[in-house]
Amino acid sequence: MPGPDAGPSPIPLAGVVGWPVAQSRSPRLHGHWLARHGLAGHYVPLPVAPEDLAQVLRALPRAGFVGLNVTIPHKQAVLALADSVTDRAALIGAANTLVFRGGRIHADNTDGYGFVANLRQHAPDWVPAAGAAAVIGAGGAARAVVASLLECGVPELRITNRTRLRADQIKAEFGARVVVYDWAQAANMLEGAATVVNATSLGMDGKQPLRLPLDALDPGALATDLVYTPLDTPFLRQARDRGCRTVDGLGMLLHQAAPGFERWFGVRPQVDDDLRRAVLA
Ligand code: NAP
Repeated sequence: MPGPDAGPSPIPLAGVVGWPVAQSRSPRLHGHWLARHGLAGHYVPLPVAPEDLAQVLRALPRAGFVGLNVTIPHKQAVLALADSVTDRAALIGAANTLVFRGGRIHADNTDGYGFVANLRQHAPDWVPAAGAAAVIGAGGAARAVVASLLECGVPELRITNRTRLRADQIKAEFGARVVVYDWAQAANMLEGAATVVNATSLGMDGKQPLRLPLDALDPGALATDLVYTPLDTPFLRQARDRGCRTVDGLGMLLHQAAPGFERWFGVRPQVDDDLRRAVLA
């Protein structure tokens, strides 16, 4: 670490902090943008155990770091360690993007932005206000999805979760437009829905698929999945068989990264097919 007279590093450093973190695609993603824009900078994976998080966060700005992405299990814990937290990160109860400025840590959550930007890119005619949105799952990612869908003007937000308490909590925090459906009656919430989202981890490689009859789903609805390993999940295939438009979850990962990159390295990067290929390679 530089001594007190060494000054800031001339090369900005950023990274992703998690435990474990080896599976993260963020280094490949940001590495692609750094190379594409010919920027001096590095983005590295940082495996940090929960008990070391506070100390590491305080030290990194002094080692030339301009910010971090945050992944499991630190997304909630960083809120208490940050000097300022955006309203949306506070509402969601988690942060995925940290910016270090003037010795202070600023925490934001860009998952909801990434979720909506992905739909706008791949389903440009999607109209959030056209009908209810049905969200399956009530974990950390679902909270970001709920916040962004409500902000986009969905008239009703239906939600179901295996552990009902977490869905009830979302209703209590996010308000009157949220309607909770029991997990056993989840299929009923699809009737008349214009948007349906799998925000559980079901359907991920190595996990069971999401088992949800889609008979009540309007073929005009848009279906999207947060899971992106595999890209084409059983849920998306089932929705497509019903005639629905589908959008995979990789674009959410790509878009959520753009605001952080811009703040750390000073360039707003493009989310395009080159980036998708680089991240999937
Ligand atoms: P999380 O906080 O651990 O929540 C997991 C969710 O999945 C909860 O709703 C949980 O229900 C449900 N679930 C897990 N196993 C289940 C099972 N066997 N049966 C029924 N429900 C089950 O995780 P998260 O951060 O919200 O992430 C959820 C998924 O989104 C993950 O696959 C993650 O990779 C993906 N994700 C993608 C992006 C992206 O950029 N595309 C961003 C963030 C997350 P309970 O509450 O009952 O446990």
